[in-house]
Amino acid sequence: MGYDLIKKEPRYCLECGEPITYSGRSDKKFCSCGCRNSYHNKSHHNDRAIKRRITASLERNHEVLKRLLRMGVTSMSLPDLSQMGFNPEYITSFSRKGGRTECRCYDFKYFLTPTRIFSLARSPLV
Ligand SMILES: [Zn+2]
Repeated sequence: MGYDLIKKEPRYCLECGEPITYSGRSDKKFCSCGCRNSYHNKSHHNDRAIKRRITASLERNHEVLKRLLRMGVTSMSLPDLSQMGFNPEYITSFSRKGGRTECRCYDFKYFLTPTRIFSLARSPLV
């Protein structure tokens, strides 16, 4: 019986890397409750940071599009947009319409080509 215990592959704590001592359960991933908690807190923290960054990029794009429409501009080259802080990677949805790509950023829509956007319009219907 004791032999079985020795033969088991050692497991290491996912948080601190210390070997886990077996006490009943052999499927443990952490050496202690403290390590388990800090591991999970950290990964939640990461999720929040990632979502916050993406949301900030979408909001920046929304601001740029709003500024363009206010100036009466409905088409612009991607380099000029990027100068204004716009990143075409961040959209809320897109669809193919008559061979063209229509992108949406919240309530704005526009057609996207490899070099520019055009037909920028605000449309509350999503
Ligand atoms: Zn640990």
